[in-house]
Amino acid sequence: MRVVHNVAELRIAVKALREEGLRIGFVPTMGFLHEGHASLIRQCKSRCGATVVSIFVNPTQFGPAEDLSSYPSDLEADQSLCLKLDVNVLFLPTAAEMYPSNFQTFIEPGQVAEPLCGKFRPGHFRGVATVVAKLFNMVQPDLAFFGQKDLQQTAVIKRMVKDLNLPVDIAVVPTLREHDGLALSSRNVYLSPDERKRALSISLGLFAAETAFKAGERNASDLLARANECLWGVDQLQYCELVDAQSLEPLVHQVDRTAAICVAAFVGSTRLIDNIILSPNAEASGLLGLGAST
Ligand code: AMP
Repeated sequence: MRVVHNVAELRIAVKALREEGLRIGFVPTMGFLHEGHASLIRQCKSRCGATVVSIFVNPTQFGPAEDLSSYPSDLEADQSLCLKLDVNVLFLPTAAEMYPSNFQTFIEPGQVAEPLCGKFRPGHFRGVATVVAKLFNMVQPDLAFFGQKDLQQTAVIKRMVKDLNLPVDIAVVPTLREHDGLALSSRNVYLSPDERKRALSISLGLFAAETAFKAGERNASDLLARANECLWGVDQLQYCELVDAQSLEPLVHQVDRTAAICVAAFVGSTRLIDNIILSPNAEASGLLGLGAST
């Protein structure tokens, strides 16, 4: 595994792989890697000849009151996991490499970035789209992998790739969960034992709605009520919404196309997000139904 810290080294490493005729897959992350990240890397390994992983805690996607300075990190563990997973290139840029002084050009996502997290994290998706576009230009991957857990992020990235004709395909990987259902997240490490128990109510709410959906319930407010009934454990609910899984526009009457219930909530001082896909056509859910373009 080549570990590179700047764009020049990265380009040389990727060029060598491309010259071997390998398809380049890319997994962007913010590190403190867990099994969710590992599943993206495994998918990448299974579909591409070479895998590039980046670890960069991107300051432009954090608001002033958010957890940028305390974001968890364990570079040594991350490197050994990448080595174990047979990653070809690990890109660890510094903030100065990504945002040299006088940096002033940003990607402004449109409507798809407005609802859900967009309402509560102003500027977040502008930062995400900008850093992902920069990383795409640096790595020039054929295929890039993102987690369904960050559903709105996948929608923003797919929109950006289409709108700007970026030459990359986007694959969406289903959310990996703990045995009890809690979605894996780097931020779970912040949770106290009591908060960890209460955090479970988020996935339990989503599963309750999913069970009702599978039993034939299609009424939007009844499905949302199922999810909300279970959300007793959170301290501050930001949103629990039923939306069209592609456009993220609210679905207010019936679920007549692939939909998602998306939740964001604070448990203690930790902000968690999760979602579940509800597809009237079961085969369209998961990896395929989110519009993965490959
Ligand atoms: P992050 O390091 O949190 O920015 O996440 C990097 C990538 O891993 C993103 O595409 C996330 O959606 C994805 N990811 C995070 N948690 C999970 C999970 N539990 N299952 C699958 N993918 C995940």
